[in-house]
Amino acid sequence: MSTTRSEALPSEPRRIRDIAHFDLEAEVVVVGLGMAGACAAIEAQEAGANVLAIERFGAGGGTSANSGGVIYMGGGTAVQKAAGFEDSPEEMYKFLVAVSQPGANEEKVRAFCEASVEHFDWFEAHGMPFKRSFHHEPSLESITDDCLVYTSGEDCHPWCEIAKPAPRGHKPQVVNKGGPFMMQCMMGAVERMPFPVEVDTRVDTLIVDDDGVVVGAVAKTAGDERCIRATKGVVLTAGGFILNDAMRDLHAPLLSKVQVHTATEGDDGRGIRMGQGVGAATLYMDLGEVALPYTIPNRLSRGIYVNQHGLRFINEDTYYGHIGIAGLYSQGGQVYLLLDDSCYERGRVGLEPSWVGETIEEVEREAGLPEGSLVSTVELYNRHAGEGRDPLFHKRSEMITPLVTPPYALIDCRVENAIWSAFTTGGLHTSVDSEVLNGDGAAIPGLYAAGRTAAMFSGQGYPGSGTSLGDASFFGRVAGRSAARRRG
Ligand SMILES: Cc1cc2nc3c(=O)[nH]c(=O)nc-3n(C[C@H](O)[C@H](O)[C@H](O)COP(=O)(O)OP(=O)(O)OC[C@H]3O[C@@H](n4cnc5c(N)ncnc54)[C@H](O)[C@@H]3O)c2cc1C
Repeated sequence: MSTTRSEALPSEPRRIRDIAHFDLEAEVVVVGLGMAGACAAIEAQEAGANVLAIERFGAGGGTSANSGGVIYMGGGTAVQKAAGFEDSPEEMYKFLVAVSQPGANEEKVRAFCEASVEHFDWFEAHGMPFKRSFHHEPSLESITDDCLVYTSGEDCHPWCEIAKPAPRGHKPQVVNKGGPFMMQCMMGAVERMPFPVEVDTRVDTLIVDDDGVVVGAVAKTAGDERCIRATKGVVLTAGGFILNDAMRDLHAPLLSKVQVHTATEGDDGRGIRMGQGVGAATLYMDLGEVALPYTIPNRLSRGIYVNQHGLRFINEDTYYGHIGIAGLYSQGGQVYLLLDDSCYERGRVGLEPSWVGETIEEVEREAGLPEGSLVSTVELYNRHAGEGRDPLFHKRSEMITPLVTPPYALIDCRVENAIWSAFTTGGLHTSVDSEVLNGDGAAIPGLYAAGRTAAMFSGQGYPGSGTSLGDASFFGRVAGRSAARRRG
């Protein structure tokens, strides 16, 4: 979405003294009806507040409805138990903190893990079914209606030595991609609630009183401005900013190199800019989930990723998003995948090999890699692969095969040539109670945020598939509850 420089800047709030009259009023006003917003609105209603939900498009759903629908939950959910996996909030916490370093918000991770079983039960109680089954192919949602999946490299080095591995990605019970059905369930739950939903209404800025308390928002419906009063709070759940070019170039220039921005139109940063306009701090605005989905199916993990120096940089059996993040943020997006004939298979994205040769020297030369670099990398890899070992990056032995069967194929995965995808994980700085915080760490009264409008609980690393919807849904509920409890 081509945007001007000014569209990367905070949105100036309106003063209550300049508002002639309010068109609508509710105790809790929820802005944006994707996963985070639906959870916030339902929870605020159930906490006894009078709620108004606002959605800029004709119906709710947002990017959540376009997603794989995998939600990260664990600690011993009914599905985990039925599928025979032992898990505990403590193991889940140890994994998530480790995988999200540096900079994980440990307080939020703790709250997320401790209430995860209750969160799963809440989804089921609100009409979202989950089959009691396990899907063996890691990293990705099932194409059947199976539920549980290893989505985040929990059973890979180094995480498997830090926490007892357990699969925690839960896809609702539907064949194929889970997002549309997941949000159909959530919208069904919203419809069963008594609160109104104003659709085709885009919120553009917040309203503050003379003490800086957020008391409402200004929206547009069919070009007409409407002022909305929120007597307890406004919850911003309006998605991230991956589609706002100017904002992305300003805050996350590396993500601008990625060709596919996984999002729907609402991800234009408005929610974040509204928060910034009333003094909110932001966190991790340069970060995102970056997917390099070439190692799907997982069989392709038997190959090796190398950088422009012909050197490996990661255990290839881990979650493809970890490879994408390491590939973009540490290797500048200069990544190649080498396969031999025994492990080659057309990847999920159907990319053909860029260079094929009968020897490693040949593909190295053809690809223009430094002389001897790929040859010595493969020599070292093969020396230990025969024993099923990987002393450099500790790939699991079952995923190690010596690369000795010609022809060899090198796939050009460089970010400028290949299909990577990304969404933002940075956003407004929020407390464990989903209050939006200012630069001093103090809560801005009357303002809450969740989902991709808020910074995720993770720090540097996107923990894995399912954690965005996990974070959005859980802290969406927290936001709704906190706003409902506030004394207006
Ligand atoms: C292809 C794909 C697959 C994915 N798969 C997964 C997965 O399996 N698991 C996972 O955890 N994550 C996944 N993600 C990421 C995940 O879908 C998102 O990060 C998550 O849905 C964000 O939820 P949200 O509620 O914050 O935002 P959204 O779902 O985008 O909701 C925001 C809502 O706010 C509305 N809105 C925006 N601006 C305004 C405004 N100014 N006024 C009023 N309304 C507004 C939007 O229209 C939208 O309805 C995937 C993403 C994509 C694109």
